[in-house]
Amino acid sequence: MTMRKFKTLLLFILIAATFQLQASERPYVLLISLDGFRWDYIGRGLSPNIAWIAENGVEALSLEPVFPTKTFPTHYSIVTGLHPENHGMIANSFIDWETGERFALRNREMVENAKYYQGEAIWETLRRSGIITASYFWPGSEMNIEYRRPHYYHQYDHERPHLDRIEGIIEWLQLPEEERPQFITLYYSDVDSEGHRTGPYSDELNETIVFVDSLMGILLDRLEDINMFDRINIILVSDHGMTEVSTERVIELHPVLDEYDVVTDGVGPVTMIKPDNPADILPLYRRLKEGEDNYRVYLKEEMPEYWYYSAHAYIMPIIVVADIGWSLSQRPYDPARGYFATGGNHGYDNKHIDMHGIFYAMGPAFKSGYRTGTVRSVDIYPLMMDIFGLESRTGIDGELNNIRFLLKD
Ligand SMILES: [Zn+2]
Repeated sequence: MTMRKFKTLLLFILIAATFQLQASERPYVLLISLDGFRWDYIGRGLSPNIAWIAENGVEALSLEPVFPTKTFPTHYSIVTGLHPENHGMIANSFIDWETGERFALRNREMVENAKYYQGEAIWETLRRSGIITASYFWPGSEMNIEYRRPHYYHQYDHERPHLDRIEGIIEWLQLPEEERPQFITLYYSDVDSEGHRTGPYSDELNETIVFVDSLMGILLDRLEDINMFDRINIILVSDHGMTEVSTERVIELHPVLDEYDVVTDGVGPVTMIKPDNPADILPLYRRLKEGEDNYRVYLKEEMPEYWYYSAHAYIMPIIVVADIGWSLSQRPYDPARGYFATGGNHGYDNKHIDMHGIFYAMGPAFKSGYRTGTVRSVDIYPLMMDIFGLESRTGIDGELNNIRFLLKD
């Protein structure tokens, strides 16, 4: 071989190696939500796989969700970096005052209507940068405008078998590189459902922790099977915690509400009230204030600042927030029906530790064996953007500086 040929060959090998390196360094993020997995469940010793992720990666003491600590607002904040007053998903159910229609989780047309999801989810930002995205369930992932949802997504199906979801993700990760999603979400509702039914301390809840943990074990094994285990960043979160409620701790608002013509929304932790006649706002507020016992009542404009819950047009003029573990009822409460005041619930003050969820993360971007205090859910969007080497949208509520230290330098 001549020297020139040798040099050419050497150059080729070098370029090929660099190319290979770049390909293998493409960042992957798998964002998993275990709905209602409270911050302290890991301490029960029932979840070895989740503990393994926490111990080998980054373990936060807890995840502080946004207020109200309800599934749709909190999940959408995780993927947008915005507080609900800025992304508009202010509750699981709310009234759109422009149309008079009610947004409800069971209403498919509503859930898919992109106008209810303001701001921008990370899959939309990533799409614009040419990154392929996918979602095996996440609030906001089914929007009816193509560029605003992930490239690959599934219509939410509560009954979709657990393992099908894992296999769906494994299939996506085996697609040819140019079709393969680098950002993927996965969602399981089981821990939340059981927490509502039997509360955060039941045997049934503990069994559900064991079950969901076994799914995480299967997922890790499958990622290993396809050689993605060392390449993928796993961010394991929950949207909120859970607290015990009781039929002995019910606040009946109807004696006061019946004196006025009002529209109300929400039972349990939070009730919003809009008097038909705006002149009734202050008198009704004062009446509720007089009886303030086991709850707090606020005018929309005077909500505690740290809740960031004043700005949006869907928020009603009066907001009643129950103390932790208490339940608001708009009608005479019938204990025989149980309903929202048995077992467990969430939606309360996001600073209360019972409302806190989890944040564990591992993968090439994350430090390992690193433990930190509470992290905020709105900071996860800028964190994920940074893993992709991209700038976050401007004007978001999350801050990279709050959370950047969890990543390797
Ligand atoms: Zn939830």
